[in-house]
Amino acid sequence: MLNHTNLHGNGNGHNGHHVVVAEPIEALEHDHTHEETHVQPGTGSMDVIEKSVELILLSVGENPSRDGLQRTPHRVAKMYGELLEGYHKDLETVVNNALFDVEYGEGEMVVVANIEYNSMCEHHMLPFTGKAHVAYIPRDKVIGLSKIPRIVDMFARRLQVQERLTNEVADALVEALDPVGVMVVFEGQHSCASLRGVKKHGVNMVTTAKRGEFRTNRDLRDEFYRMIGM
Ligand SMILES: [Zn+2]
Repeated sequence: MLNHTNLHGNGNGHNGHHVVVAEPIEALEHDHTHEETHVQPGTGSMDVIEKSVELILLSVGENPSRDGLQRTPHRVAKMYGELLEGYHKDLETVVNNALFDVEYGEGEMVVVANIEYNSMCEHHMLPFTGKAHVAYIPRDKVIGLSKIPRIVDMFARRLQVQERLTNEVADALVEALDPVGVMVVFEGQHSCASLRGVKKHGVNMVTTAKRGEFRTNRDLRDEFYRMIGM
């Protein structure tokens, strides 16, 4: 061990910290991937993501300098910025006071169906996509129609599991509206499952979250399922 240290001839044998450089790779000679990268958590720094993608490309045996890949780290970083923009949003800003007092039949439900969403599974960072359906029974407030898809997006555009995503949307509506009841149904196709052969392609995963009246009243649930054709 001592001899090994001396071989490096760095005169700094006491720190025991060696930089091991394997076969020199052409691409490494003119990029910065070997530099230490400082990550500021939560800033979504394009730089950090670009460098990381470059490292992945090197690691799988690619040459990040070749034509087709030169802009790939940049494109991937931009894509993550879009697909994971939900980390930079919060419920209050998204709802933006778009709550209205509306006379509505007591116990009647408001349904927003077929909300398309794209999310990313937190286990593999691969997309899962599908449709969300939301029903709520107002107590004294209703929410602007366009806000529900935005709430879905806010949570979908984070690293997720479908079960948690479903619950988060239901809880957000409870928080924003204090409704008599909320029910949320998510349908999802998971590319991590279809790509890796765990499930057959096109298999639909369905998750539900019920709050308030929807927990106890089966007729309400059935009515909602009928309205969304399930
Ligand atoms: Zn997955």
